[in-house]
Amino acid sequence: EFEKMCSKKFKCKHSLSVSSGTAAIKIALKSLNVGPGDEVITQAFNFIATIEAILDVGAKPIIANVDDTLNINVNEIQKLISTKTKVILPVHMLGVSVDMDGINKIAKKNNLKILEDNCESVGTKFSGKYLGTIGHAGALSFDYGKIITTGEGGMILTNDISIDKYAREYHDHGHENNKQFPRGEDTRTIYGFNYRMTELQGAIGKVQLSKLNSIIWNNKKRYLALSKEIKKLYKIRKIPTQCEPIYDCFIFFEEDKKLRKKIIDKLFKTSIGTKNLPDAIKWHCSYYWDHALPKDDVKKTKKTYDLLSKAISIPIWLKRPIEEYIEIGKFIKSLK
Ligand SMILES: *Cc1c(COP(=O)(O)O)cnc(C)c1O
Repeated sequence: EFEKMCSKKFKCKHSLSVSSGTAAIKIALKSLNVGPGDEVITQAFNFIATIEAILDVGAKPIIANVDDTLNINVNEIQKLISTKTKVILPVHMLGVSVDMDGINKIAKKNNLKILEDNCESVGTKFSGKYLGTIGHAGALSFDYGKIITTGEGGMILTNDISIDKYAREYHDHGHENNKQFPRGEDTRTIYGFNYRMTELQGAIGKVQLSKLNSIIWNNKKRYLALSKEIKKLYKIRKIPTQCEPIYDCFIFFEEDKKLRKKIIDKLFKTSIGTKNLPDAIKWHCSYYWDHALPKDDVKKTKKTYDLLSKAISIPIWLKRPIEEYIEIGKFIKSLK
C-alpha cells in the first residue's frame, strides 16, 4: 500500500520499498548493471552513504565539485567521463534539486544512465516533476533525519519495468514472487540479499506521506519569514529557477570567521542548531573522505570544501513558531 501511494504521489510507474536509502542506492546501481570496472560520477557535497553504495557494488566513485547551488556543477561532468563511466549519480542536497536539464543533456550525449539520490529532497520538484522520477531510477530515504520518516527505510522509484523487476528480486533473496507457486516453491534466476522494508514501517510511511504537503507548506512559511530578514545582506544558496524546494533548511554564506561563529553560537543557544553545515560537514563533504577514496581524488574537491566551510544551514523545525525564525533573522541581520 505504501509503495502504491508513493507511485501515485510522485507520479511514477514503480515504487519498491527497501530497508534504507543506502540500500535503495545500492540496489538501483545493481539494477542498472553497475559493477567492478565501472565508474559512477557523483558530487563532492553529499553524504558518505552514496559513496559506500558505489563501492559496495564494486564500482569506482568519480567526484565532481558543486557550484553555488551546493549541488553538482554540471560543467565539471564532461571532463570526468571515461570509457568506464556508466552512471551519473546527482544528489539533490538539503531540499534543492540538481539542474536536471543539464544532467539529462550530458547523459543523453554520452549514453549514460541517471540515478538520482533523492534521499534528502523527498517532495522537491524540478520543472513540475517530483525528484527521483526524472532519471532512470531514484532513491529515497525515510531515515529519522529526513522530511518524512519510517524510522529507517527507503524507496526506489522508476518508470522502467526491467529496473523494478531486478530490484524487486534482488532485495528479497532473488524471489520472483511467481504467482503460480507458494513462496516456498518460488522461482529464481539471481541471488540477492535481504533489503526488505517491514510491514510496520510501511504502515508508518503511509501516514507520513499523507502529511508531506502540509509539512512543506509549513516549512515554507518559516523559511520565507527568515529569508525576508537576511536575504539582502548575505549571499544565499542559489536555487535553480525550475526548482520548487521543500524548504527544510535555509542556507547562506558568511566569509568572516568571527561573524560566522557569532551566528552559529546564537543558533545553538536557542537550540535551533544547524543542519549538517557546519556541524556534520565531515560526513557530507568528500574532502574528508580519504578513508574511502584515493587521497588524490579527495584533494580535487578542495573547491567544494572551501565553499561549504563558509556555509551556515539553519534547520526549519515545524515545532518552532514562525516568530522564532523572524527573531533569528533579525539577530543575524543586526550583525551586518
Ligand atoms: C540519508 C541519505 C542517504 C542514506 O539514507 P539512509 O536511509 O540513512 O540509509 C543517502 N544519501 C543522502 C544524500 C542522504 O542524505
